[in-house]
Amino acid sequence: MRHGLGEGFVSIVGAGPGDPELITVKALKAIRAADVILYDRLVNVELLTYGDSLAERIYCGKAPGRHAMTQDMIQRRMIDSALEGKRVVRLKGGDPFVFGRGGEEALALAARGIPYEVIPGITSAIGAAAASGIPLTHRGVAASFACVTGSRCPGAETGEDGEDGGSPAVQWELLAHAVDTLVIYMGVSQLKEIRSELLRHGKAASTPVALIESGTTRRQRTFTSTLGEVHKLAAAVQISNPALIVIGAAVLVRDQLAQLERQAASMIG
Ligand code: SAH
Repeated sequence: MRHGLGEGFVSIVGAGPGDPELITVKALKAIRAADVILYDRLVNVELLTYGDSLAERIYCGKAPGRHAMTQDMIQRRMIDSALEGKRVVRLKGGDPFVFGRGGEEALALAARGIPYEVIPGITSAIGAAAASGIPLTHRGVAASFACVTGSRCPGAETGEDGEDGGSPAVQWELLAHAVDTLVIYMGVSQLKEIRSELLRHGKAASTPVALIESGTTRRQRTFTSTLGEVHKLAAAVQISNPALIVIGAAVLVRDQLAQLERQAASMIG
């Protein structure tokens, strides 16, 4: 242990969307200095190799319905280690404050007077969209985007990692019209309900949709369809977690890019 009693400190750290190189320099420094690393299921385990060989690595993963540690246990562990004078890194997929329960953890630390910091990460919407050639805003096409949880759809079960179903209901009727690009987290198991909600509230069946599985990783798969047809595609390709649903005309830019790249390649070839 590098710290005396009372010198404990917690860093709530975003690990980025999957590709381990997409972590920030600041986050990497925090991992290197940590005595204890509490990490989530969506964190690329390659990042743990940057920690000190003596650092304790504790898995806190939460798959839907299967929790290695409850949120209470994680917070207690974080607080206890900090009170022992340790440097604690609470490592979370994407950004800790986007469906990551980082806010709750910060509140728990603040309530105990434990010094902490929050180090942002690239959230999966940003990472996966970039890696799929989908600009979330695009001149003349999309002037706004929203990150939305799909786990609050009618009939939804509790969410996974991050958020566990305690957030307020999503206002699909407003989102259907007020936002140009919708990025839905934790929505794949609720795809049919989300699709129906949006169609029911007047979103056009022709609206382009992308499904992005394991964005920014070597296993990434991106598929495009329309709101009217997307549930069939999801079933056909057996889309699985972690995955995002991106809805809006900006999705078409992916196909434009692919077409231009093909044309350019054939001109060179
Ligand atoms: N804090 C995280 C989100 C945690 S909630 C962030 O900022 O990204 C978990 C949800 O995030 C998953 O259900 C999935 O919808 C999304 N997700 C996380 N990593 C992903 C990835 N590499 N590709 C696609 N979706 C991802």
